[in-house]
Amino acid sequence: MPRLPEGSGSGYTVLFAWVLAATIGYFALGGFLTRLLEGYDRTSESGISILLTAGAIAIGLGLTFRWAREKKPGAAPSDSSPRRRFLLGVLGAGGGVAATSIAALARTSDWLTVSGKHIFLVRPPYQADTALNEWAGSAVGAYRRLGRTEARISDISLGSGSGTGGRQTVEVAREAIERGINYFDTAPDYSGTDSEKRLGEAMLGVRDRMFLATKFCRPTGHLHPGHSVQEYMTAVDESLRRLQTDWVDLVHIHSCDSVERLMDENAHEAFDRLKQAGKVRFLGVSTHTPNLEEVANHAIQSDRFDVMMLAYHYGAWPSIGDIIDRAAEKDIGVVAMKTLRGAMHQGLMWSRPDREAYTQAAFKWVLSNPSVSGLVISIWESAQLDEFLYASGQAAASQDVARLKRYEALTAQEHCRPHCGACLDQCPEQLPIHDILRYRMYFEHYGAQKEAMRLYSELESKADVCLSCSAPCTNACPYGIPIPQQTRDTHDLLSMQSRA
Ligand code: SF4
Ligand code: SF4
Repeated sequence: MPRLPEGSGSGYTVLFAWVLAATIGYFALGGFLTRLLEGYDRTSESGISILLTAGAIAIGLGLTFRWAREKKPGAAPSDSSPRRRFLLGVLGAGGGVAATSIAALARTSDWLTVSGKHIFLVRPPYQADTALNEWAGSAVGAYRRLGRTEARISDISLGSGSGTGGRQTVEVAREAIERGINYFDTAPDYSGTDSEKRLGEAMLGVRDRMFLATKFCRPTGHLHPGHSVQEYMTAVDESLRRLQTDWVDLVHIHSCDSVERLMDENAHEAFDRLKQAGKVRFLGVSTHTPNLEEVANHAIQSDRFDVMMLAYHYGAWPSIGDIIDRAAEKDIGVVAMKTLRGAMHQGLMWSRPDREAYTQAAFKWVLSNPSVSGLVISIWESAQLDEFLYASGQAAASQDVARLKRYEALTAQEHCRPHCGACLDQCPEQLPIHDILRYRMYFEHYGAQKEAMRLYSELESKADVCLSCSAPCTNACPYGIPIPQQTRDTHDLLSMQSRA
């Protein structure tokens, strides 16, 4: 066994200390940073990982400087020069701290390489870069009749869908009420059950001023044919408990994708009984799936529904206008959602005034249709209330429409249309392409990364199958969306896989 040179023992000790610090940095601090990036609750973090890493660095520094001050036995005078040893010590210490930091960051490398730009460069979605002074304190400027319900609801109202990513607070919901919003849209499966709980708390004391909409749904997913009348009724009872109220004004058949689910007789029987018991007042349907047109038309014909919540925005497919008009003829209230057409405006190469004014232009255009009773938009920040409510009660001007046209042109091959589904038959794996691209939208443009990944992880079939597929879907999108490329990239993004 080779003999170690005299005096090198302390050098090896220093080296070992830094290797240990880097290892602790990787597992402890790196683990902590990864959990932060993934959106874990910060309050559940004890701080032990930071202390451990800081302790390991302190020990490394202590040993390094002790080594630097020691006189090396038998060393040449030049080797033992205090200045030289000090410089070596500083270099060693700097290198050790750098190695520990790099090790910690290496643990998060999946996030940095796959989605770093989305985490660090994305601004709060929807929101303008610079809030104009005149937006401050904006309030609802108009109320509209919600069809046969006879309710008068704020034209711009508070939604709380998956796009909020759990960020909506009781405080912002209360502020929305103070600013005149009187329509809340929620569901048992938004943000776990937090959406209903938070909105319920926000409405305490003012419940009778509010028009409250929730969904026939459980926290784990939608109810559908096969569920009993009692299961539908229990789901609403659970919503009432979370919302701390005795009644909801509107219960939607949620994200309805088939006539079979729309007309499930158990759902309708449950609604009738709940209505008789005073627990619900009106029945609605929300739909933005491939079968929107069929579902919406059937809902209108059936005359069973008081309200429809529909995906509607500038450039939506032509027959949606016709559907909305026919709903209005039957005095069915129409609430618009998905009004920002993918909300890609922050990432586009266009002028700053276009970017800043896009949300307001989009809202004004939707509300320029007199058959629309109002729109819901996910809100979780006070500044969003300033910006969005500035459009309330205002008419769309020609520059708004010009702006929307530019947006449509710039996003034509990016935006998966909410009513569509033309590509679905082309996929031998029966992938829900539209859902996959919607989750990508939540991740990239709504800033709801964690929620997007959760939703994606729950899909039965995922886009990893696209990697080995001959891609018969390549030209299936009538709008020119490059589907295989998008689904593969989305899989990388939402499952943190890198194909670099
Ligand atoms: S590439 Fe993906 S989406 Fe396209 S057909 Fe193949 S499995 Fe389906
Ligand atoms: S990718 Fe294209 S064809 Fe497929 S659902 Fe979206 S818009 Fe329709």
